[in-house]
Amino acid sequence: MDFTLTDEQELFVAGIRDLMAQENWEAYFAECDRNSEYPERFVRALAEMGLDSLLLSEEHGGLDAGFVTLAAVWAELGRLGAPTYVLYQLPGGFNTVLREGTQEQIDKIMAFQGTGKQMWNSAITEPGAGSDVGSLQTNYTRKNGKVYLNGSKCFITSSAYTPYIVVMARDAASPDKPIYSEWFVDMSKPGVKASKLEKLGLRMDSCCEIVFDNVELEEKDMFGREGNGFNRVKEEFDHERFIVALTNYGTAYCAYEDAAKYANQRVQFGETIGRFQLIQEKFAHMAIKLNAMKNMLFESAWKSDNGLMTSGDAAMCKFYCANAAFDVVDSAMQVLGGIGIAGDHRVTRFWRDLRVDRISGGSDEMQILTLGRAELKKYR
Ligand SMILES: Cc1cc2nc3c(=O)[nH]c(=O)nc-3n(C[C@H](O)[C@H](O)[C@H](O)COP(=O)(O)OP(=O)(O)OC[C@H]3O[C@@H](n4cnc5c(N)ncnc54)[C@H](O)[C@@H]3O)c2cc1C
Repeated sequence: MDFTLTDEQELFVAGIRDLMAQENWEAYFAECDRNSEYPERFVRALAEMGLDSLLLSEEHGGLDAGFVTLAAVWAELGRLGAPTYVLYQLPGGFNTVLREGTQEQIDKIMAFQGTGKQMWNSAITEPGAGSDVGSLQTNYTRKNGKVYLNGSKCFITSSAYTPYIVVMARDAASPDKPIYSEWFVDMSKPGVKASKLEKLGLRMDSCCEIVFDNVELEEKDMFGREGNGFNRVKEEFDHERFIVALTNYGTAYCAYEDAAKYANQRVQFGETIGRFQLIQEKFAHMAIKLNAMKNMLFESAWKSDNGLMTSGDAAMCKFYCANAAFDVVDSAMQVLGGIGIAGDHRVTRFWRDLRVDRISGGSDEMQILTLGRAELKKYR
């Protein structure tokens, strides 16, 4: 398979290199991470370059550039140290709303195009429903022409600052045969209370517990078709998992290059540490993992552009890249010695960030279960 980038794709990547060279973004990222702040100025710069329209069709003012282009751009951003995890809604967020939303919902979300501001996210997980999403208890009840939402969600990314949230809930009128639907909720409505959670990594994006106490909605606030909630998110999960894997790869590449430069200049026992075979062995294993991640991701991106990507492919990317990238960053940290642990080196942040991705967006174990099922299905 030929992964050579076209001239147009090379131009996008060159644009990223220019942007990343414009200032010391690392100082800004470190500050945002320290203060648990969304790097809005950086995301706005990307949005102004049109990156939020990369997957959007030309009909909606987008570039329709496809997933291979996205993979090339995200990999380069990550390689240059950008926290691409904060961009998870940027490539697909508009398309989902254009496909599922009412005109009113579309108008609300499309107003964010080019701004880099956080706009919406899906709220599915609950304190009693993590991997087992089907056991969720948040419900909606119809009364006197209105709809009332009750329940609570947890670990909801970005929700401290997104003005809207799409909430998965079950129809209270059908307790025996569950009907799962989604609701487009304005976070400023009475009865919505979000409380920010502290977390190990991915600190530049918020994560909240949200309580819905008799939140009054209208029928027009339904997102997509009634009863289609799970089918809708299933498709989104595959792309989200692929994007998480891309983020992992870029971050690992950055740590690898930092460690390689360091190994070639740090002197111990009268030699640069890169001359020691135990250090060289680490680079050999890191390179193998980076190469495997790259090939897997570009193949999946190509499949996605050709309508061939399956849930098994997405699960394979998510599981492999989260683990391989974590191993690469961990080895890079070992090469950096004390400064990777006690200093303010970015590899410390990467290590914290990557550990989270083995749980969020679907745990390692759930990816293995999805992949195993998908593999055996091929031979049925
Ligand atoms: C930082 C962060 C951001 C998140 N963002 C969002 C968001 O925006 N929206 C949203 O809806 N959710 C979000 N989540 C929730 C995330 O999807 C869940 O945390 C994840 O699915 C796991 O659920 P859980 O934490 O309840 O763990 P559990 O499901 O309780 O699992 C605990 C452990 O048991 C394992 N396990 C569970 N079932 C099985 C099984 N059948 N076989 C083998 N092992 C099993 C799991 O793999 C895990 O290791 C986020 C989570 C985090 C940490």
